[in-house]
Amino acid sequence: MTTYLNWKQKNVALLKFFDFYKSLIIGGSLWLLTFSSLGNLNNQLAGEKEAIYQQWQQQHNEDRLANIQIEKNSKYLDRKYIEIVELSQKIKADRERAARTIDIHYSDRSNQRAKMQERAVVLTFDDGPSRHTLKILDLLKKYRVKATFFVTGITIKYGCDTLKKIYNQGHEIANHTYDHSYLPGKSINAQKWQIEATEKAIQKCLGINYNSRWFRAPYGAQDSNTIQVARKLGLNTALWTVDTNDWRSTVTTDSIINTVKKSQSKDIILMHDTSKKTADAIEPILLYLSKYRYKFLTISDAFTIEDKELAGIEPFLGQQRK
Ligand SMILES: [Zn+2]
Repeated sequence: MTTYLNWKQKNVALLKFFDFYKSLIIGGSLWLLTFSSLGNLNNQLAGEKEAIYQQWQQQHNEDRLANIQIEKNSKYLDRKYIEIVELSQKIKADRERAARTIDIHYSDRSNQRAKMQERAVVLTFDDGPSRHTLKILDLLKKYRVKATFFVTGITIKYGCDTLKKIYNQGHEIANHTYDHSYLPGKSINAQKWQIEATEKAIQKCLGINYNSRWFRAPYGAQDSNTIQVARKLGLNTALWTVDTNDWRSTVTTDSIINTVKKSQSKDIILMHDTSKKTADAIEPILLYLSKYRYKFLTISDAFTIEDKELAGIEPFLGQQRK
């Protein structure tokens, strides 16, 4: 017992010594564990942070690429939209122009004639109605020929019955201004008035809502305003391809006949139903041209239906002839 106690007593210091180290080891281990787990936690957090960052970056890149694509798409669509709008506007303008305007003048004769029916000849009579118109109408009726009359508004005042006869015989009535004015240099409004007043005079005389399809400028003198006004009012413009010069005092009935005899397919022949010499020339002209199987057509009928829709057109500026 004594020994035991002694041994125990002896070992108190040792036990304390061991206790001290035990606590040191346990504490150290705890510290190590704690530190290592904190380290792990830190590492884990850093990893997660990195992953989140990468995920964000990836998302960001995807968004950025998507935005670029959206931007590209919208730019593409904008461009396409503009192209479609422009194209539709162009088609609309072309259609309106094509539906309205054939412009026959010296500089593109061949172009316009290409659009006319083969073997068509268009007889046109300007400046009437006059006292010579009736004789011409009788002959046209006799030979079953259709012609086009470019009338002035002022002559309708005195020649309404003749105008009605022109219409009832199936000829084409067209517009040649109200008072045979020289148009170049006149304002748009002044030129517009010339055409509109004539249309009103035709309508008043015929008692129907007749709308001319063609306009011919007096003296063949037209400027850009003329073309612009005619187009706005829905009129084609026509000069001529054969000039009989029948208004000249030096010209004879024979020379009128001879000029017309030289006509070819698709010619538009200029004459005046105010001229007695012309009235006298009509029968020989019709007899001669009929032999060559020319079709005498009104100016509108001379153009095929497609061609009426497909006229393409440069404004005629300048050159003047009677
Ligand atoms: Zn005239």
